[in-house]
Amino acid sequence: MYDAERRDALAANLAQVHERIDRACAAAGRDRDEVTLIAVTKFFPVSDVEHLAALGVTDMGENRDQEAGAKFAEIPAQIREQLTVHFIGQLQSNKASHVVGYADVVQSVDRAKIARALDRAALAQERTLDVLVQVDLSGATGRGGVAPAEARALADRVAEAEALRLRGVMAVAPLGADPAEAFARLAEVAGAIRADHPEADQLSAGMSGDLEQAVAAGATHLRVGSAILGSRPTAR
Ligand SMILES: *Cc1c(COP(=O)(O)O)cnc(C)c1O
Repeated sequence: MYDAERRDALAANLAQVHERIDRACAAAGRDRDEVTLIAVTKFFPVSDVEHLAALGVTDMGENRDQEAGAKFAEIPAQIREQLTVHFIGQLQSNKASHVVGYADVVQSVDRAKIARALDRAALAQERTLDVLVQVDLSGATGRGGVAPAEARALADRVAEAEALRLRGVMAVAPLGADPAEAFARLAEVAGAIRADHPEADQLSAGMSGDLEQAVAAGATHLRVGSAILGSRPTAR
């Protein structure tokens, strides 16, 4: 596809997503400024990140460490410095140092071992790292995420870590379940953590298929991939 065509397609998709967010905020009686759109660019080339940045998207999400590292190493510095990069994928502790090398925020901390590894890496790289605790709403043995009952204890571990800043919670609505109900449970967990840690005021919930329900439940960050970028080459 020609570059201008791709840019126009992304602009049209982005406009539709913004309209959906505007309507959802209006319906929920929320201020549009409370909601940040994260474009999830996994599987898509750095040229798409550049188009989206030119279209005013400030936040990008990635869930595959290798790919994300390569992409943000390639991007011109004057574009990169305007972006906030969110790592939203499952993380191995031996990859922590690599992730800290390019991510501004890690949303997928789901065990103390990962928190410790990220803290060590951030200290070594002389920076602080914003962190969200990922909560598993499926009730099954999760594909990522701490059980809701254990989220507060994990949040405490993150908050104690010298180089980590606990900013809130993240979750994916379970397949086949009512997202509104799942996000309501997430909002409860988020509220309990915020009571202990007032700076943990971010709620990352909502994807292409359920962003309206997430806004209604109080989401501050939406992670939208396919509705902006199109369908990915392989399902995850
Ligand atoms: C891929 C991904 C998204 C985006 O999903 P879409 O349905 O394409 O909007 C959001 N969150 C996480 C954790 C993801 O891995």
